[in-house]
Amino acid sequence: MTLSRPAEFDARVLVIAPHMDDESLGCGLLLATHPRNDQAHVLIVTDGSRSPDAPQPCASEARPLAAVREQEARDALAVLGVPASNIVMLGLPDGSLRGMGARLRAGLTSHIRRIAPQCVFVPFRYDRHPDHLAVNRTVCDAKRAGDIEAAVFEYFVYSQWRLLSTGDVRDYLPPESLHRLPPGTAGDLKRLALECHRSQTTCFYPGQRRPVLSPELLDRVCAEPEAFLAYDPAHDGRRGLARGRAWVPVAHVVEPVLKRWKDRLRQGAAP
Ligand SMILES: [Zn+2]
Repeated sequence: MTLSRPAEFDARVLVIAPHMDDESLGCGLLLATHPRNDQAHVLIVTDGSRSPDAPQPCASEARPLAAVREQEARDALAVLGVPASNIVMLGLPDGSLRGMGARLRAGLTSHIRRIAPQCVFVPFRYDRHPDHLAVNRTVCDAKRAGDIEAAVFEYFVYSQWRLLSTGDVRDYLPPESLHRLPPGTAGDLKRLALECHRSQTTCFYPGQRRPVLSPELLDRVCAEPEAFLAYDPAHDGRRGLARGRAWVPVAHVVEPVLKRWKDRLRQGAAP
């Protein structure tokens, strides 16, 4: 585990967030502690319109969710010190990135080239959400092909896995490739930023049973270090794991199935 902050984290950086809130969950400390705010850029890829899911039967939507989430992200990034002029919202349909292929690659690489960051931050290769995986694979493929020069780092939105013995996928990565930023006083800013995402931290729809982001999750991510895996094209996929090379990819497939099953049970058990 590397606790020192790599010098390139203080250069021009670009955080690519598939949805509003990913930037605060995975990179809130990174952005809040950047020494030059004008060098911190954020690209939000989708319109965030599918989280939370509208309950069935659909209660009338009080406010357009995409517009609400856009403003929440702008408020959160203001807390983290990112200038409004450094925020780009691509507005692609939430949940659609996996099938976009070349269109997504063209969109992301053109923004990366225009901003010309020294580092690009993308979700972890074994993330749980298909949009997150699509962003990871698109940017890592472009890096491997030599289409982008920036160093690529993977950040963590979902790190807690029930099917791993330690419960945390970050424990399975090579310590020398994993950089951790301790929360310090910036943990408070990260929490304030996350609280701007009220559609995720509270129940947005009438009849919604639980917020998308639980209070327990918020407590944990604000108290623990943020981790970043340096992407090396020679150690792609499971070759980038320090241990669990056979099990982690299997658990990655099974874990979401278990979660859906558990969510369904909880929904059925709710009054
Ligand atoms: Zn997301």
